[in-house]
Amino acid sequence: MNEKILNNISDVLSNNKNIILIPHSSPDADALGSCLGLYHFFKGENNVSIISPNEYTDILNFLPGSESVIVFDNEKEKSTNLLRNADVVFTLDFNSLSRARNISNLISKSSAKIIMIDHHENPDKYADIMISDSKMSSTCEMVYDFICLLDKNKINNKIATCLYTGIVADTGSFRYPSTTSKTLKAGSELINYGVNVTEIFEKLHNNFQFKRLKLLGAAINNFKKIDGLPVLYSSITDDDQKINSFKKGDSEGFVNFGLSVTGILCSVLFIEKKDEGLIKISFRSKGDFKVNIFASRYFSGGGHEHASGGISKLSLIETEKKFIKDIKDHIKENYE
Ligand code: 5GP
Ligand code: MN
Repeated sequence: MNEKILNNISDVLSNNKNIILIPHSSPDADALGSCLGLYHFFKGENNVSIISPNEYTDILNFLPGSESVIVFDNEKEKSTNLLRNADVVFTLDFNSLSRARNISNLISKSSAKIIMIDHHENPDKYADIMISDSKMSSTCEMVYDFICLLDKNKINNKIATCLYTGIVADTGSFRYPSTTSKTLKAGSELINYGVNVTEIFEKLHNNFQFKRLKLLGAAINNFKKIDGLPVLYSSITDDDQKINSFKKGDSEGFVNFGLSVTGILCSVLFIEKKDEGLIKISFRSKGDFKVNIFASRYFSGGGHEHASGGISKLSLIETEKKFIKDIKDHIKENYE
């Protein structure tokens, strides 16, 4: 982020603006943390609202300010009016309007200035100001840099808590390859605002219902290995979800367990979504294996090199069969 961006931004962001902050659908800690970090930063001198396309996991309710998030699916009229009167719209932690689901049209029709802050690859060019860098660990780290550029003195405990949470969530607590010395420096500076590191860890990772543990058991039990390939895959059926009172966000992180096995470079989780008529797929990998290319080519998805998602409209069994064939073809074409 540099002087040029700062000049462009200063023209767009003077006081008393109607600012809307939008995370991707089913927002995670990075998406919601970046919205809430900016919310606390702009509040006071501007009218600022966060509109999430849909509901999100209640695990994130501990983030300061989360009670003010408007869920588009629940408050369509209010959201539409807010967007109609917006001067500035931030899209945070996504770079393709389709990831804002049913808000996409309202964003593209809006006369507001659109500012993208995001760390995914291959951004679409829908924003007036694009702050896009796929080398960054998280959108929250980018928002931290952005706020430091605008007015570092305004950072307080609430802003720091929201941004720190997004950074630790997207870096697996400063472990994933996207973690740089700058990421750690941002974390370190944020802790100086009184962030409670242990409490955030507890809220993110040790704050589940007993049934979620049983669901994890089912997912782990379902893992299968593909002969001759460094790939594991598992699935969570509709029944697994019903038996274990599945709630949004309950399967977060399950796919990573596949990568805990020696020699495994790619782990995949299929989640049956009978009500939506599709299978949601999570891809994770290590080393040279880039799952975003695979996800976009075979499963209408995308994401980061080592963490991607996609969908399938086939049945669970047919999806697994297709996956086994596709991954064999993909590895033969690209890695042999
Ligand atoms: P998850 O497996 O946690 O749902 O998603 C991992 C990452 O993949 C997300 O952070 C996001 O970058 C990306 N992703 C997930 N679902 C989709 C999708 O349907 N389309 C695209 N383009 N990216 C996705
Ligand atoms: Mn992110």
